[in-house]
Amino acid sequence: MAGVAHYDVLIIGGGAGGLAVASALKQARPQLRTAVVEPKTTHDYQPGWTLVGGGVMPIEKTRRPMADFMPTTWVQDAVAEFQPDSSEVLLTSGARLSYDQLVVAAGLQLDWQRIEGLQDALGHDGVTSNYRGDLAPYTWQCVQNFSGGRALFTQPAMPIKCAGAPQKVLYLAADAWRRRGVAADLHFFNHGGAMFGVPLYAKALDRVMAGYGATPHFGHNLVAVDGARREATFERTDGSGRVTERYDFLHVTPPQSAPDFIKSSPLADAAGWVEVDRNSLRHVRYDNVFAIGDCAGTPNAKTAAAIRKQFPVLVANLLAARDGRPVNGGYDGYGGCPLTVERGKVLLAEFCYDGKVVSTLPLDPTRPRRLYWWMKTALFPWMYWHIILRGRDWKRPAHIPYGG
Ligand code: FAD
Repeated sequence: MAGVAHYDVLIIGGGAGGLAVASALKQARPQLRTAVVEPKTTHDYQPGWTLVGGGVMPIEKTRRPMADFMPTTWVQDAVAEFQPDSSEVLLTSGARLSYDQLVVAAGLQLDWQRIEGLQDALGHDGVTSNYRGDLAPYTWQCVQNFSGGRALFTQPAMPIKCAGAPQKVLYLAADAWRRRGVAADLHFFNHGGAMFGVPLYAKALDRVMAGYGATPHFGHNLVAVDGARREATFERTDGSGRVTERYDFLHVTPPQSAPDFIKSSPLADAAGWVEVDRNSLRHVRYDNVFAIGDCAGTPNAKTAAAIRKQFPVLVANLLAARDGRPVNGGYDGYGGCPLTVERGKVLLAEFCYDGKVVSTLPLDPTRPRRLYWWMKTALFPWMYWHIILRGRDWKRPAHIPYGG
């Protein structure tokens, strides 16, 4: 195999999932030859973009040099093609890498182009999105400059990353306008039929929406934006046609899907995500392939909170498979969504597979609390940089090795 670099474990993507796995593997088996393929030179703390758009966190606090968190060999390139039958990947540079085991952690793809006129409209005349870090400061600028009128917020079809983010921005903007005494006519256009996928939290969020006098429009999918006319067009999902709405401020959450290079690969399931078992995170057809985070075809909420629970399971199972031991680690589908219902209070929605409500602290999970605001604005960012990206699992002290 001359000219093809070989790794014991090759990790695709240096986002939250990829770096957590790479760091944990480094601690568990420093002798393994591992590498991360990642094209970007900065790492983004995406959960912070809601706070940037709400005027709570400066954008600089969400960006760090990738090199500061890369625990192993960094191949600064991108995967163009998976070739799992020969355990190889082809990079966009033309180079090939081979592996014993592969971890796919490439995140998801934002499909801005699926909304006609959106890309031209973004970033000026009141059209923004916290899903682009560079636009999150513009969201806050728009909120500050808003002097009244119609404010529209959109949510596309699931799955998306952080299903709560499309409404968190509404609450923080509405709270800012209420404090300033600005009259805002608030509308939330949602492809789905409820404010949240878990009924208990949906009910609590209906009350938050009503408290702001915001009108939810379910079964509405954004299909076009006319920036010059300040109009947004929605397709009704019940087949009853299109409706065009005027806006003074528009926050768009774009449609999202699996990255194209995963969709077109043998690793994909019917929807394009990496087809892994929902508990073991091991591929159902390729025993030496695992996936973590947003690109995994598991029916959990696509969040960094999920990755915190996924990476110890994935690393334990990957090492078990390597050692010939049974793969029996189980991820329970945990996901968490800190909903910033006002400046100073968060409703912390936590849940597992099949909508099972859980609560890390013994408190009523439907009540917004100041404690959770502190966790969202101070504790979680700290945990992200120092616990998750460093591959630390506080349930597993460093002296207890992964299996074996
Ligand atoms: P990412 O962190 O997106 O990383 C994927 C990496 O793969 C990237 O670095 C990318 O460059 C790389 N990559 C892509 N293509 C290739 C390729 N071809 N080859 C090699 N590498 C590639 N989560 C929470 O838990 N709580 C929150 O409050 C929260 N709020 C959010 C708010 C917003 C506005 C957004 C956008 C997200 C939020 N999230 C939240 C979700 C969270 O950020 C993601 O779920 C998490 O970052 C997913 O991690 P990942 O490793 O799967 O993907």
